[in-house]
Amino acid sequence: MPMPIKLPIYMDYHATTPVDPRVVQAMLPYFTEHFGNAASRNHPFGWEAEEAVEKARKQVADLIGASPKEIVFTSGATESDNLAIKGVAEMYREKGNHIITCVTEHKAVIDTCKRLEKEGYRVTYLPVQKDGLVDLNDLKAAISDKTILITIMTANNEIGVVQPVAEIGAIAKEKGILFHTDAVQAVGKIPFNVNDLKVDMAAMSAHKMYGPKGVGALYVRRRNPRVLLSPIIDGGGHERGMRSGTLNVPGIVGFGKAAELCRLEMASDTARVTALRERLNKKLHEGLDEIYINGSIEHRLPHNLNISFAYVEGESLLMGINDVAVSSGSACTSASLEPSYVLKALGAGDDLAHSSIRFGLGRWTTEEEVDYVANKLVSVVTRLREMSPLYELAKEGVDLSTMQWEVH
Ligand SMILES: *Cc1c(COP(=O)(O)O)cnc(C)c1O
Repeated sequence: MPMPIKLPIYMDYHATTPVDPRVVQAMLPYFTEHFGNAASRNHPFGWEAEEAVEKARKQVADLIGASPKEIVFTSGATESDNLAIKGVAEMYREKGNHIITCVTEHKAVIDTCKRLEKEGYRVTYLPVQKDGLVDLNDLKAAISDKTILITIMTANNEIGVVQPVAEIGAIAKEKGILFHTDAVQAVGKIPFNVNDLKVDMAAMSAHKMYGPKGVGALYVRRRNPRVLLSPIIDGGGHERGMRSGTLNVPGIVGFGKAAELCRLEMASDTARVTALRERLNKKLHEGLDEIYINGSIEHRLPHNLNISFAYVEGESLLMGINDVAVSSGSACTSASLEPSYVLKALGAGDDLAHSSIRFGLGRWTTEEEVDYVANKLVSVVTRLREMSPLYELAKEGVDLSTMQWEVH
């Protein structure tokens, strides 16, 4: 007898991850016994806290091939992205005012760039190809002698597409332009080495890799070149003056432990989760026609699947699978339901974008859960299509794009 399955099923690991129990254990003493302020230099309470922070700094650095001095702890990747982009913009203003990014970036990057535009900076938003990848020729063509920063994400949070970061790093290096990458979805999941990839800054977040929420880091290169950043938060000069504010010691300890576990278990986690993702993909394709994978399958995170289900309406689809926690291709912005700007950038129409689902698998996803989710989707999509005249016409071979619609 298979184990009864526990509902609802969590398949939204790109939004956040549960904290690994081993991480919680590592954090606990730093709330009570070892509660010191890491900046208290004159007593053992402070020394203990500082020692724990420095251990975590090394654990995070080791995961990405950096030196501990290059890790600046922040409140999360939103802050890290802001610090990298605004910090470079202000520090290198004399050198130029042009920034290059990409249309499928996370809002933490896009909206930061938008703010800089209001302050007189010029921003190029590179398009992506149908598979979600930036075209390196577009990147080269966008570079001018005023370009001070290229900021392009490593892996996309909706479609899991992994950009050619090493190639971008090489281009940036050759032109003497700083390169920041939002590496939140990639770090801890796929190999990421700051020197192999030639990145100058990289944003990370603990809660996307089995650590706690509200803590992240920015990698800031110290040699060849040494990156200088204007801080965006002023105060006591913590974190080498780049990020003032009392350090979140328990959070940082948890981040460090989470990074260590990812480093040690990445290979086995990846093998397991890739097999589950393939199982889900195969079952969906066996059970349904007219479904489309969004983004390159080859250049993709192992735990991501993003699929458009044609001829079903997005809201009905989500309602039909309400015991499964996934994300849809619709973003709730205030009152309206906007189709995902990432899927639209790949060329998806509004309908297909709305009827898309992002599956995010992770450390505790089971085969039973994958089977349940696949079976559920097959039955829900089949039922919805039975009520869809468009699906029927398409099956009869009518080319819907050439149909004349009568409007009454
Ligand atoms: C989650 C996420 C962020 C924001 O990270 P927080 O730590 O939640 O602020 C930024 N970029 C990407 C790609 C993300 O997935």
